[in-house]
Amino acid sequence: MKTATAERDTTTPQHIRWFNKLRNASIRIRLLIAFVLLVLIPAGIIILSAVFLGFQHGQQRVINQLYSVVILKDEQIAAWIESLQLHLTSVIYPHQVSHLVEPLLQNSPDTPAYQHAYGELRIQFEQMLATTDLFEEVLLLDRDGRVLLSTRHDHEGQVHATQLYFWRGLQQPSIQSLASATSQGRSSPVVVSRPVYDQDGKAHAVLVGRASSQRLNDIMLQRAGLGETGETYLVGTNFLVLTDSRFEDGANQVVRLQTNPIETVVRTRSTRAGLYRNYRGRPVVGVYHWLPALHMVLVAEQEQNEAFLSTYLILIVNIAIAVVATLIALFAAHFTAHSIAVPLADLAHIATRIADGDLKLTVPVQSQDEVGMLAAAFNRMTARLRQVIDNLEQNVRELQRAEANIRRINAYLLRDVAEQSALNHLNHTLQGCQSLDEAYTRIIPRLQDLFVGQTGALYRCTPTTPRLELVGWWRQPAGDVLQTLPAACPALQSGRRFTLTRDQHAPGDCQTCPIYAKRPILCVQLQTGGELFGLLHLRIGRIDIETLHNQLLPLVIRTTDLLALALSNLHLREHLHEQAIRDPLTGLFNRRFLYTTTAKMIQDMHHQHSTLGLLLLDIDHFKHINDIYGHDAGDAVLRAVGNVLRAQSRRDDIPCRWGGEEFLVILPHAGHQDTCDRADMLRQAIAALKIYHDGTVLPPITVSIGLAVFPDHGRTFTALNTAADQALYHAKHSGRNRVCMAGLITKEAS
Ligand code: GH3
Ligand code: MG
Ligand code: MG
Repeated sequence: MKTATAERDTTTPQHIRWFNKLRNASIRIRLLIAFVLLVLIPAGIIILSAVFLGFQHGQQRVINQLYSVVILKDEQIAAWIESLQLHLTSVIYPHQVSHLVEPLLQNSPDTPAYQHAYGELRIQFEQMLATTDLFEEVLLLDRDGRVLLSTRHDHEGQVHATQLYFWRGLQQPSIQSLASATSQGRSSPVVVSRPVYDQDGKAHAVLVGRASSQRLNDIMLQRAGLGETGETYLVGTNFLVLTDSRFEDGANQVVRLQTNPIETVVRTRSTRAGLYRNYRGRPVVGVYHWLPALHMVLVAEQEQNEAFLSTYLILIVNIAIAVVATLIALFAAHFTAHSIAVPLADLAHIATRIADGDLKLTVPVQSQDEVGMLAAAFNRMTARLRQVIDNLEQNVRELQRAEANIRRINAYLLRDVAEQSALNHLNHTLQGCQSLDEAYTRIIPRLQDLFVGQTGALYRCTPTTPRLELVGWWRQPAGDVLQTLPAACPALQSGRRFTLTRDQHAPGDCQTCPIYAKRPILCVQLQTGGELFGLLHLRIGRIDIETLHNQLLPLVIRTTDLLALALSNLHLREHLHEQAIRDPLTGLFNRRFLYTTTAKMIQDMHHQHSTLGLLLLDIDHFKHINDIYGHDAGDAVLRAVGNVLRAQSRRDDIPCRWGGEEFLVILPHAGHQDTCDRADMLRQAIAALKIYHDGTVLPPITVSIGLAVFPDHGRTFTALNTAADQALYHAKHSGRNRVCMAGLITKEAS
């Protein structure tokens, strides 16, 4: 991707890349560039136009001014020439020609008429020179051009026949420039001449006046609004400067000024203007004006610096105004771009951060314009978005809370289901138990399943002692479990269903179970119908009080209720069973028990190929005891005999009261001899009894015993019983107090 971009960049023209860069630049940069272009381009055009037009206008204005000066000087020169002609005319009036001029023409110089005329005329010439400063010399020439009279004596007698002013002066009043023959400041460049007519109107002399250069210099040197550097002067056709310079002393040097414009003017006899370097080498603007009367060029010029000073000032002022306006425009552009771009940049920056998730941010509203409205609208949008998100989050939180509640309820339900399942399992287990012993044996694993987080133990009541004996325990070392609980245990004495022997929030040691002192113990009695069957002993883990009261205690109560009821049923069943199979007087099994058990027992012996002995005992002359000592004494004898049978019985033996004063004992795995020995031992033990009744000792009693052994004397209980009864009958009839084996085996009393 980068390679492709690089390739595209290298192939894209430079200006396109610049344009793309500019197009992707920030708004501020683009606005600034746009504003700058909008300001600088017009400003540049205005400045260039001002410079160009200013110079054009300034140059034209200066030239116009120079034209005016030239015209003014031209008119002054014309007036000066006219004045020269008038004064020259006034030197010799027509009526004086005959007596002042003609004598000079017609007479020799040494004649009185000549001299008189010469004297008179000279006086007039000199008076005119003295009264005017127009001429520096006045001459009177004859028709041959010879000087008859001159205000300068040394010029008299000279011949000016070759001079143009002479020939023209013969014709009419004329003027001639002598620029080619003179130099600046040293002699007059202008000569006027006119004919002197006689009375016949014929010109026979020429009056010539050499004009004073001072007057012409004064005209030229007159300031005419051309400032400090402006001047006017005359240039001859030989390009010599004919009048004085304001700036240089031209008395000792001849200034030659030959420029292209002057050459053009001399050649074309016209008026021109231009920029050039003057005779002093200074750049000037000048106007050249051809004076046809004088055959001279009138030059009016002014140094460019001064001439264009106002133009320069106007330009400088215009440029300054343009620059200031540009700066103001740039500042305004910068301010505008800043006021637009900065809030937009802030808006973009904050929008980016908001897009990243920080919805608490707001854009500062810095103005009331469109950007401010945009920022305010963005803030409102963000606030609404934040509100929507808050609502969504609130909904999510509520959903999460609802989900948590559902989870908790599910957990409760699952726990209840698990507990109920465990309780059902426990109940099923208990239902399957046939005895309390079996129940107590199978209860412990079920309790361990029920009380998962707790260690515990189960104690049971015993009929023989007031203490409670340990049935079983779970999740704790055997050494931590008490084998018995005393009757003084607080859990038994409190009178309450359950006892928290050490409350988590109100510690108190249990003296019965000091080993649990560091942990609370929940002891719950197993009782129903006011009868106590045992005590459930739970060592509680770290659970809160709410869990204890809302979860654990109900489960414990339900469990102990179930246990108590089941144990009560088993206890009742065992009690009824005992009543059904035992003789209430002696506590021995009764005849019903034998009928239900002997068949299976004999079958087991058969399968085991073992033997079984059966004893049938009958108290001798028992009727006498009843008759002599009473029925209670007889009962006492019966109980005493029963105790002997029970005491002498081995674990598998079954002593039984067969009826009346007759007893039957089953001896599993006993053979002939063993049965015989056991029977005789019982006979002797009974004979040795001392039976007390009502404070007196009853006379010794004896028993007669008939024996039968499986399988030799019978393969069924009935057959064995019949064989034993026959042996008993034989023992009775053989003298009593003896043991007789079925099949006529008899052992006499010793
Ligand atoms: P023998 O030596 O021939 O066995 O004579 P005997 O007196 O023991 O036998 P008999 O059958 O004549 O008498 C039995 C007596 O036992 C009759 C009856 O009153 C008495 N008896 C039966 N059951 C009980 C009982 O539960 N208690 C008492 N006190 N006497 C009983
Ligand atoms: Mg009897
Ligand atoms: Mg008897």
